[in-house]
Amino acid sequence: MRVRLKLKTVFVFYFMVSLLGLIYALMQLGQRCDCRDYGESKDQQISQLRGELQKLQEHIKTSELSKISKPNLHAIYVITPTYARLVQKAELSRLSHTFLHVPRLHWIVVEDAAQPTPLVTDFLAASGLTYTHLHKLTPKDKKLQENDPSWLKPRGAEQRNEGLRWLRDMGAAAEGKEAAALEEAVVYFADDDNTYSLQLFEEMRYTNRVSVWPVGLVGGMKFESPVVQDGRVVRFHTGWRPNRPFPMDMAGFAVSLRLILSNPEACFDGDAQMGFLESSFLQHLVTMDDLEPKADLCTKVLVWHTRTEKPKMKREDALQRQGLGSDPDVEV
Ligand code: UDP
Ligand code: MN
Repeated sequence: MRVRLKLKTVFVFYFMVSLLGLIYALMQLGQRCDCRDYGESKDQQISQLRGELQKLQEHIKTSELSKISKPNLHAIYVITPTYARLVQKAELSRLSHTFLHVPRLHWIVVEDAAQPTPLVTDFLAASGLTYTHLHKLTPKDKKLQENDPSWLKPRGAEQRNEGLRWLRDMGAAAEGKEAAALEEAVVYFADDDNTYSLQLFEEMRYTNRVSVWPVGLVGGMKFESPVVQDGRVVRFHTGWRPNRPFPMDMAGFAVSLRLILSNPEACFDGDAQMGFLESSFLQHLVTMDDLEPKADLCTKVLVWHTRTEKPKMKREDALQRQGLGSDPDVEV
């Protein structure tokens, strides 16, 4: 009897405690919790993460910038002679779009003109490139006339020399760090109508004296090229007068700026015999033994001596005679 009473008491007690626990739990469910502490720590976490995100974004931005400006890359100075004609803006557009992909490129555009023209001035200002705009008119007696065969006189010689003059003036004025950077730079002569691969610029970027490579579609050949044996240039693959000192096209070599600055007499001879313009310049700077073969030891064509067809204006001329020509105020 005593035992039974005790069991019953225990059972009732257990039941009561459970019931109270259940009631308390149900009451808690209905109540709003005090979330202040919880919220504060979340806010802190968010602002911490925001700070980290900002730091990361800044890091990405600076590394992207350094990718574009690449301060440690050697600079490439590209000298381009150009002259007014119907296709000029089209040629310059194509060229500038190539150059926009090349880091640390400084474009020296030399107009064959008595004054800088508005077309080239405006074009360069909008190009997004680092550039210098020069002009130098080819004297009449040195200029190819309308009906002269294209090989009679060299073209662009005066303008390339003007580009060299600008580089030498800049070299003379430079001091300290700036002068040291110029010593590392390279100079390339890029006509406005050729076609250039991007790889070409990385090949030439590290040039000790004069680097060389093949040029496609030139001299009546699929390509002309230095011939390399045991890592050295030993002769030239060309269809015409292979014994010229440097039987290479203008597009086939680049010269270190240091070499140009230390040989102030080196320039292009506008009166040079046909095919000797490149030699007239390079003779002052190197011998064949010094040439540095690039483009996989001169086995790859990375530049093409393309030429743009002169557009025919038969219908334009006919319409102009009737006073119905294209609006002359529209720049083409
Ligand atoms: N050029 C120039 N003045 C001229 C003819 C040509 O400045 O009267 C420039 C031309 O824009 C080009 C370079 O000189 O950048 C070589 O000219 P071109 O392409 O006509 O020569 P080729 O293709 O025969 O080597
Ligand atoms: Mn050309």
